[in-house]
Amino acid sequence: MYTGKTHNAGLFTLEHTGVLAKSARTAVRMAEEHFNIPSLPSRSYPFQIATLGELDPEEISGDRFARLVLYERPGARASERRYRICLQDNIILRRIEEEKPSILLHDLLLYVLLHEIIHVIRFQREELDFEAPEHERMSEERIVHQLTHDILADFDSSGMRILLERYSPYRPGRNLITDSKRLLIL
Ligand SMILES: [Zn+2]
Repeated sequence: MYTGKTHNAGLFTLEHTGVLAKSARTAVRMAEEHFNIPSLPSRSYPFQIATLGELDPEEISGDRFARLVLYERPGARASERRYRICLQDNIILRRIEEEKPSILLHDLLLYVLLHEIIHVIRFQREELDFEAPEHERMSEERIVHQLTHDILADFDSSGMRILLERYSPYRPGRNLITDSKRLLIL
């Protein structure tokens, strides 16, 4: 029976999607300002944001807030790469439920999206190879965390301050924001 309310196995509802749109706009604006890029996403920084309901099986991560997937044509130039920031609605909503009421969905999404966009910018600027070995990836993760923290430091919300404390770049074990995957377009 249709009850007018959808509880679709941890997928974002329309209300959540509205919050996501707002977080995404802020994350993009902050990244543009910090990295001095006129407009994101762009040809040089091609990415899109997708939510769990839109994901292919390979884009689903069981325990992270997001998975960053690089789609690349073999032997391709930079312009033939594209990234999908694959948000894992269920993991995000579960964390919001656990942290209630101190952390807001808006702030967590802003944090995660900004983190992912910074990854995309750095990969595209070849600060790190997408296939880098584990130890390089760990130090990249710390750098991206630190940049995310620096950019969000002045964000005026008590929830964001709590979030930044929880996900400090110097706290191992709490760094499970994302994993990443490279898929070839054949
Ligand atoms: Zn990361």
